[in-house]
Amino acid sequence: MKIARTNEQLSALLVEAKKNKATIGFVPTMGALHAGHLALIEQSKNENTLTVCSIFVNPTQFNDAADLAKYPRTEESDIKQLEEVMCDILYLPSVDEVYPVSWKSPDFNLGHFDSIMEGKMRPGHFKGMAQVVYRLLCLVCPNRLYMGQKDLQQFTIIKHLIPQFGLDIELVCAPIVREEDGLAMSSRNVRLNEDERAIAPLIYKTLTAANSNTFKDPQIYCDFAITQLEHAYMKVEYVEVVDRKTLLPIKNWNDTSEKAVCVAVQLGPIRLIDNIFID
Ligand code: AMP
Repeated sequence: MKIARTNEQLSALLVEAKKNKATIGFVPTMGALHAGHLALIEQSKNENTLTVCSIFVNPTQFNDAADLAKYPRTEESDIKQLEEVMCDILYLPSVDEVYPVSWKSPDFNLGHFDSIMEGKMRPGHFKGMAQVVYRLLCLVCPNRLYMGQKDLQQFTIIKHLIPQFGLDIELVCAPIVREEDGLAMSSRNVRLNEDERAIAPLIYKTLTAANSNTFKDPQIYCDFAITQLEHAYMKVEYVEVVDRKTLLPIKNWNDTSEKAVCVAVQLGPIRLIDNIFID
C-alpha cells in the first residue's frame, strides 16, 4: 500500500493510476478502523481497479471540541489493517493539506436535511461534513464513493449534494457491519465501559422490534422504543420512523414502502447512532 501524506504525493500516485485507466473507488474515514470500514474497502476493491482510503479527523464537523480531542487516533493499527486488506492508496493528510489558507469552501444547500435528527442535535456538523467530502472528492477524483448506511443521514445528504458538487461520481451505500450481539461497529465503541458495552446491544434489539407488526402506528413504536432504551439508562435523543428518501417522519406504516428507523442515544460518555431499513 502506498501512503500519501501530502496532496502532491497523492496526485503523483493518481496520475500514475489514471495512465493505466484505473477506475478509482474512494472510502473516506476518520480512522480508528474496524471491520465496518474494512468491508467498505473490500467492496471498493471488488468493484474498482484501485481503492483509495483517506483517514482524516475533520475538525470542521465537530461541534464539540472535547469530542474532537477524544476522538480515537490509532494510525499504526489502521495502516496495518489497510495493508492486510490490500488497500492500494492511503491518503493521510494534515489539516493544512486539506484546508490550505488559500482554499475557500463553497456553500452547499443542505435543505431540510440539516435541521432534522443529527442535524438538529449537532449544529454545523453536516456543513463541515459536506465541506470535507467535497474537498476530498476534488483531491482524489474517484469514479465511485463508498459510504456506510451506518451514517444514513450523512449518506442521504451526500446523495442530495452530488449534483451541487458537479462531479461525475457514483455513490455506493454499504450495509452496516455489526458485532455478534448486534451492536453497530463504531470507532467510538472503545470508549464504553464493561457495563455500558453490555447494555448497548439493546439499541439494535429495539430497532428490530419495529419489524414485528405489533405497533399500530410508528408513533406507538417510537414511544415503546424510548421507554425500552430509557429503562436501560440510555438518554434518548431521538427515535424516528422515516421515509428513506426524505428522512422525514411518517405517520402511518404504509405511507411509504421504503422506511428506516433511526435512533441516537447517549450511553455513558458517548453518543451512539444506529438505524435499520424496514419494508
Ligand atoms: P467514520 O470513520 O466513522 O467517519 O466512517 C467512515 C465510513 O465508514 C462512513 O461512510 C461510515 O458510514 C462507515 N461506517 C462506519 N461504521 C460502519 C459500520 N459499522 N458498518 C459499515 N460502515 C460503517
